[in-house]
Amino acid sequence: MLIGIGITLLVFLLMEVKAWLMHKYVLHGFLWNLHQSHHTPRKTFWEWNDLFFAYYGLLAMLCFIFGTENLDWRFWTGIGISLYGLVYFVVHDLYIHRRLKIFGKTGNSYLRALDIAHKVHHKTRGRNGSESFGMLWVHPKFFRLAKQKNSI
Ligand SMILES: [Zn+2]
Ligand SMILES: [Zn+2]
Repeated sequence: MLIGIGITLLVFLLMEVKAWLMHKYVLHGFLWNLHQSHHTPRKTFWEWNDLFFAYYGLLAMLCFIFGTENLDWRFWTGIGISLYGLVYFVVHDLYIHRRLKIFGKTGNSYLRALDIAHKVHHKTRGRNGSESFGMLWVHPKFFRLAKQKNSI
């Protein structure tokens, strides 16, 4: 059980690294056609970019299908992917982009830093020239910005 929780935590951390790499080199690379929908003003509720949720959902599902019988590392990997997906959805889609109006403004510096970093990412409409590709890890400069804004 402890090893399982360890695997879950490790997968959760690796998912942030994977999300960063995927975002920078795949989404802003050869799959830009799908991701572009997320860098242009939304016309419908769904975006082509949402397909990436389905991709991670499928990965987690495969882990559960093959790992549940023996509760082996695949099961815990599935838990890690699912947890990261849930946190990503809440932070990115609900809190930052407010696709459903659930969250209001917050004074929490970490959440404000995430918001600022991701809005900086969205400043670029094109495939090239963006920065800040991660989600839960942000550059310290965004913390400083968030703290400055909080104290105004
Ligand atoms: Zn992007
Ligand atoms: Zn976004």
